[in-house]
Amino acid sequence: MAHIVIVGAGTGGMPAAYEAREALGKEHKITVINATDTFQFVPSNPWVGVGWRKRKDITFPIRPYLEKKGIHFIAKPVTRIDAANNRLELADSQSVDYDYLILTTGPKLAFDEVPGSGPEGHTVSVCTVEHAERAYEQYQRLLANPGKVIIGAMQGASCFGPAYEYAMILDTDLRKRRIRDRVPMTFVTSEPYIGHLGLGGVGDSKGMMESELRSRHIKWITNAKVTKVEAGNMYIDEHNDNGEVIKQHVLEFTYSMMLPAFRGVDAVAQVEGLCNPRGFVIVDEVQRSPKYRNIYAAGVCIAIPPVEQTPVPTGAPKTGYMIETMITAIVHNIEEELLGQQPTHKGTWNAICLADMGDSGAAFVALPQIPPRNVNWFKKGYWVHLAKIAFEKYFLRKMKKGTSEPIYEKYVLKALGIKRLKAKEKELEHS
Ligand SMILES: Cc1cc2nc3c(=O)[nH]c(=O)nc-3n(C[C@H](O)[C@H](O)[C@H](O)COP(=O)(O)OP(=O)(O)OC[C@H]3O[C@@H](n4cnc5c(N)ncnc54)[C@H](O)[C@@H]3O)c2cc1C
Repeated sequence: MAHIVIVGAGTGGMPAAYEAREALGKEHKITVINATDTFQFVPSNPWVGVGWRKRKDITFPIRPYLEKKGIHFIAKPVTRIDAANNRLELADSQSVDYDYLILTTGPKLAFDEVPGSGPEGHTVSVCTVEHAERAYEQYQRLLANPGKVIIGAMQGASCFGPAYEYAMILDTDLRKRRIRDRVPMTFVTSEPYIGHLGLGGVGDSKGMMESELRSRHIKWITNAKVTKVEAGNMYIDEHNDNGEVIKQHVLEFTYSMMLPAFRGVDAVAQVEGLCNPRGFVIVDEVQRSPKYRNIYAAGVCIAIPPVEQTPVPTGAPKTGYMIETMITAIVHNIEEELLGQQPTHKGTWNAICLADMGDSGAAFVALPQIPPRNVNWFKKGYWVHLAKIAFEKYFLRKMKKGTSEPIYEKYVLKALGIKRLKAKEKELEHS
């Protein structure tokens, strides 16, 4: 019997638990450990930030759903990973031993890298449901006293989609309330150009997103490094393509939502030889740590090199479907290991994303993530807004039902040529 422990029950961890339970024999024990007892659907947090969703709409208690499938659950933060002895220490000094460890711990939000930023400083965030609720509280103050707004993503950020989403959603909401004319908006981003998205652009994302911002009267500053934030003022160094400062801005604001850079969470970052200097888990092609061969990792917590060097540092996003492909590979690999074989499965890491714009939306597919690509597709339309709402309901339902890849998802994505796992050499020869 093997004990498979999954740390983190988010977008990666929940499907990991269900897939592992489905694939591995009942003689193997599966335990999920999460810092809190609640699952939150992170992609809906921008909606919480404008009051279009409440916490109850996008969260649910984890325990009953996992236990129904025979998966053990512990709601406590892991404080230390003793990788040499295959042991986890939890917040109350409880310890848990494992045979295989799957890390899906997501990001630590690095607001500390920009003085005055973040919910403890002067900007709000939509990265967690708690942050998004606080963002909504402050948004209501903006509604009462309209003023300047800054939305964007700071240096080192890798997740740009939600910044664009929040800017467009806010614009839509303010227009509906007929006060958009009293709220000048600026988008501030470390990306070298609008629509770069940490991916070197996807299809015509540059032209389309610039056009979208222009038509919504949102000004922008790219190649931006936020040096500090004070109450009501943001200090920004704008760079040229050589990385030299060409202009220093002090922008006034009444309300600002800035996404931070990410690092790995402390318990993971502190394991000697497991991570890169930013605390992201180094994994090989089969999602396994080269140093600790029984530790696998997926999602935001893994190290992925930037798609390209940019004048102000940016990272590559780790999007939901990409994360699910990593999970499927990991589960098959542990299955192989349990049968005494070498792990061979590799996730496709295909980036597929639906970004909401309040009254419209943008969808992109980047296969593979690093250009040149076989599929490089970016489309805009009201249908994306509807698709994103449908996807929210679908994913929440899927996470309660405990099926990681329902049959229709398999067929729709297959029809689009999107697969979770890379074909093995033998299969490629025959295709
Ligand atoms: C606001 C926002 C919107 C996004 N929208 C989209 C989108 O629309 N589409 C898309 O494809 N991608 C989107 N992403 C990117 C990505 O899909 C999400 O960030 C996704 O949630 C990442 O999944 P994950 O499993 O790596 O981490 P998470 O979902 O963040 O889960 C990490 C889990 O680990 C737990 N944890 C952390 N540390 C510990 C510890 N020490 N002990 C125990 N548990 C711990 C946390 O409590 C959490 O439950 C978005 C990201 C953000 C921030």
